[in-house]
Amino acid sequence: MTKRQFSTRLIHDSEEPRIEGAVSLPIFQSATYRATSGDETTYDDIRYLRLSNSPNHQRLAQKLAGLCEAEAALVTGSGMAAISTTLLSLVKTGDHILAQDCLYGGTLSFLHEEAPGLGIDVDFVDAEDPDSWAEVCRPQTRLFYVETMSNPLLKVPDLPAVVDFCQQHSLTSLIDNTFASPALFQPLSMGFDVELHSATKYLNGHSDIVAGCVASTREHISTITHRLNHLGGILDPHACFLLHRGLKTLELRMTQQCHNAQMLAERLQEHPDVSQVHYPGLSSHPAHQRASEWFGGCGGVLSFSVVGDGARAQRLLNQLTLAVDAPSLGGVETLVSRPAVSSHAGQSAQQRQTLGISDQLIRVAVGIEAAQDLWDDFEQALDASAPQSEVVAMEDS
Ligand SMILES: *Cc1c(COP(=O)(O)O)cnc(C)c1O
Repeated sequence: MTKRQFSTRLIHDSEEPRIEGAVSLPIFQSATYRATSGDETTYDDIRYLRLSNSPNHQRLAQKLAGLCEAEAALVTGSGMAAISTTLLSLVKTGDHILAQDCLYGGTLSFLHEEAPGLGIDVDFVDAEDPDSWAEVCRPQTRLFYVETMSNPLLKVPDLPAVVDFCQQHSLTSLIDNTFASPALFQPLSMGFDVELHSATKYLNGHSDIVAGCVASTREHISTITHRLNHLGGILDPHACFLLHRGLKTLELRMTQQCHNAQMLAERLQEHPDVSQVHYPGLSSHPAHQRASEWFGGCGGVLSFSVVGDGARAQRLLNQLTLAVDAPSLGGVETLVSRPAVSSHAGQSAQQRQTLGISDQLIRVAVGIEAAQDLWDDFEQALDASAPQSEVVAMEDS
């Protein structure tokens, strides 16, 4: 039988056998399970919630493994639980990590604040510049960690070069594929060893849980699961159920989000009060070529700089009526934020400037609303926040 398409697999993979005929897998709200093999019970036979082996965990992990083209997968209590547990499974004291320099804030903090105390060294590299990697690689280097698209400027590493480099130097390649999701990009098929997700974002898609996922070989997943059993960052069965439900519409949502982001990016680019738009779907973006070649779409996150200062950017956010000013991404509702005062607030103004993150930069994580309604909202907010309206806006506040 030919392999079914992704949208069909989202709905039907790992759903059989249906327990008691239930079309939707029920929630197994039980902390522990009766022993099945009597006197011969071994550690592997024990079913207990912290061991992530309830029917909700097993079915969901099996489904995610299939969607990521992996041998196995594991769901976790958050994206950070997936990332930290995986890193702690693959490196030990004395080891060295190569990491992309513009990672998700939580991952960066983990590498900056947790790794040194454990005797793990990290070097940060420009993941778009393969020629710069060899000089920081050491005999103790174990892994190379990158993200599919960076926040908030949507940089795309030279992904095939990362895979090649890791093969040449016997490193494990890890990729946080949250921004693309398996609907747009399959890193394991490109040769990456471990794929990580904040399932809080696109996989779940409804801004109502935090969850994480790791997909890889059976061997890696078994090692990481064993570590998670100790660290305890598991997902509860009700959150498993919500993630399982949300996952089924991943492709539908992603298609609409890519469409909305492309349309918003194009219109923003033409607006006189917008100085720059960052979205790989635009031919002006440095990663346009790579993204078109490797990804099935450029995702739902874009960012843009508004003409003026940080106060103007904040007025713009305050004027939006559909888009909600909140961190996170990947939900059905459009969210906006200013990286300078949210994701990158912990860095100095100097550091932000080096990274290209100005006070006027606005990140948009588009939802699945009608594209025209979204544009109307941004257009009125751009007008209402313009400097000539400043006096009025300030009187309002
Ligand atoms: C949100 C996010 C994380 C962290 O996930 P949580 O579910 O919040 O723990 C990691 N990586 C990326 C790219 C993210 O966007």
